[in-house]
Amino acid sequence: MKPCPRCAQPIVGQPARSRLTADRDIFICTSCGTDEAVREANGQPPIPFGDWPLNP
Ligand SMILES: [Zn+2]
Repeated sequence: MKPCPRCAQPIVGQPARSRLTADRDIFICTSCGTDEAVREANGQPPIPFGDWPLNP
């Protein structure tokens, strides 16, 4: 299993599909998926790929 590109931690359990990707399927860990959802709910911009520790 590849690590989560957003936090570089191993993905445990079911991966989440990143909301950043309209044209690509990029899978991140559950906690990163939750974090993206929380940021969206709070009106914060998502963390761009360029700031991720691993290039998806
Ligand atoms: Zn993650």
